[in-house]
This record gives sequence, structure tokens and C-alpha cells, in this order.
Amino acid sequence: MERVRIDDVDSRTGPAAVKRPLTDALDATDLALNYYELAPGDSFAFGYHAHADQEEVFYVESGTVTFETEDGEAVVESDEFVRFAPGEYQRGVNRGDERVVALALGAPKESGDLDLRRDCENCGERTPNSIERAPDGEGLVTVCEDCGAETGQFD
Ligand SMILES: [Zn+2]
Repeated sequence: MERVRIDDVDSRTGPAAVKRPLTDALDATDLALNYYELAPGDSFAFGYHAHADQEEVFYVESGTVTFETEDGEAVVESDEFVRFAPGEYQRGVNRGDERVVALALGAPKESGDLDLRRDCENCGERTPNSIERAPDGEGLVTVCEDCGAETGQFD
């Protein structure tokens, strides 16, 4: 048995106030597990995205998450679960005033290719993006794969 306390796992830089990766902390072999807290305006993800080979389930423990999906917006309240199939595009954002606490589960553990899309001002449309280390070494940036412009910064 493996056992871990959420507060003992360091948070990761990204679009969420708190993201504690529990997969390795629990030595999970077949699923990916992350604990999230989203401040108002935060997101689980760097952009609208799909994982080629991984289904994803979100459990919203408190707060309200607005998911952009292929079928439009879905407002997911506390005590609800949502599931996205492999290859299905989505992004969950906290558009409410209350902090969101949520768990994200992915299986299998390896997500396959990440197809990440963000609005690029330079290109004037949503384009494929990659996630890179910030040039100054602090935090991460998202970069438009079409024109090379930075589309976001994450500390
Ligand atoms: Zn661009």
C-alpha cells in the first residue's frame, strides 16, 4: 500500500493555483492522478486540448468549473463528475468567485500526444501551441507553433 497526504506533495507551476501530482507519490502504474485548486480565473489546463490516448475524469469537490467542450460549454458543480474520451477536446476554467477543489484522473497513465490550442494574437486565431520553459528560466510559457509568438506565461 502507498499512502500520501496532499499537503506533502509539492505544487507544480502552471495555470492552476495548486496542482499536486499524486501519480508518482503513490507509485501509480496505470493511471495519472492530480489534485487541483483553482483560484477564480484559473484553469486545469494550459489551453483547449486533447490527449490522444488517455481518457480523463474530473471530480469537482467544491466550487464550479466551466468546461469548454466540443459540444459547447458545460457548467459542472460540486459533487459532479465529468469524463472526456481519448482525443476529445476540453478545457476547464473557474469562472466563479469561489475557489475550486477538484481531482483529475487519467488512464492509461501515459496520455499520448497532447494537442494544445490557444488563441494567438499574432495569428489572429486559435493555433497549435507547445509548452516551454520561460526564456528567463522562471516558470513556463506557451508558444504558438505557427508563428513562434508567446501566447501565455505561467509562474
Ligand atoms: Zn501565432
